Amino acid sequence: MHFVVTPPVTPSIAVVGESARFPIHRIYCVGRNYEEHAKEMGHSGREAPFFFMKPADASLVAEAGQPVSMPYPSLTNNLHHEVELVVAIGKGGKNIAAAQAHQHIYGYAVGLDMTRRDLQSEMKKQGRPWCIGKGFDFSAPVGPITPAAQVPAIHSGAIALQVNGQDRQRSTIAKLIWNVAETIEQLSRAWTLQPGDLIFTGTPEGVGAVVRGDILLACVEGLEPLHVQLV
Ligand code: MN
Repeated sequence: MHFVVTPPVTPSIAVVGESARFPIHRIYCVGRNYEEHAKEMGHSGREAPFFFMKPADASLVAEAGQPVSMPYPSLTNNLHHEVELVVAIGKGGKNIAAAQAHQHIYGYAVGLDMTRRDLQSEMKKQGRPWCIGKGFDFSAPVGPITPAAQVPAIHSGAIALQVNGQDRQRSTIAKLIWNVAETIEQLSRAWTLQPGDLIFTGTPEGVGAVVRGDILLACVEGLEPLHVQLV
């Protein structure tokens, strides 16, 4: 096959205990999936799940044990952190029942749904798409994937984010409004899931701004931590 321009490289993530890597197909994100975060954003805390996407090449992949540098994005004065559990899909499908969802999960990683909050708020106000607030370059830092079998207790694990050593977000995966299986059920009604898809499952309360020079440490109990330095 010959192409008229160079085809893009498939972005990929390291897998704990494997030399082979996980290729990124799509990045789905769940909005307002922890009650206290929904409240801090001015909502009731309980509603049907809704989804948005980031481009696969908006990922910023951190290798095991290494910090990754994120360039402070253009057009914003209010860049927010959102620490999230990321689900990596290993087997595709549509209309997946929650009870079968575990068969489709390859593993889990820690991610940051970085958000140009000022642009997102303006787009919301005008009833326009969020893309410019959510889907910008380097907006999806993500750490190494741990295969699901190695983290059976992930659904009750702690989730936390520190900025420069200070706690900003701290909760538990058990507080997801729509758990991982229910999220896969709902998401797969709207799109056909494919191997390589990532799902950012939502952030707990405590989102806030970061600036150049800040060091972010994102953790989910049982997974490789994610270190990001804003430059
Ligand atoms: Mn989010």
